[in-house]
Amino acid sequence: MYDSLRDLYQEVILDHAKNPRNFGAPEGDCYKNCRLAHGNNPLCGDRLTLYVTFADGVVRDATFDGHGCAISMASASLMTEAIKGKPEAEVRELFQRIHDLMTVEGTEPDAQALDKLAVFSGVREFPVRVKCATLAWHTLVAALDGGDGDVTTEV
Ligand code: ZN
Repeated sequence: MYDSLRDLYQEVILDHAKNPRNFGAPEGDCYKNCRLAHGNNPLCGDRLTLYVTFADGVVRDATFDGHGCAISMASASLMTEAIKGKPEAEVRELFQRIHDLMTVEGTEPDAQALDKLAVFSGVREFPVRVKCATLAWHTLVAALDGGDGDVTTEV
């Protein structure tokens, strides 16, 4: 990995871990256009709840709450920013891209499609952190797949 990407990785992760965007449950309850799921990574102690609100098949709002390590929080923060305004099909495509990026050796980040999420190519250097970084994304898919799901990285 280039040094510049490594620096960027640390900078972006720290920034989002310290000041998570879209943090907190939505105002009021999670109503009919809102889907939620819980994610749990017992290996690290990361727990989060994700709330995704749709309108006309497009993500209108995405927020999360919970607690965990810097990488899990930063990943959820960046993810909620990235999926807002996107149709569900694009969100699923993005999941696949980010999942490949973090787990498949040799996957080059597509800077145009991934924007800031490209920094997560850096997580491949820290295999124990991959579950922290992918937790929010697996939780997202559970929310899209029907809501009220529970996701755990361990069986
Ligand atoms: Zn973690």
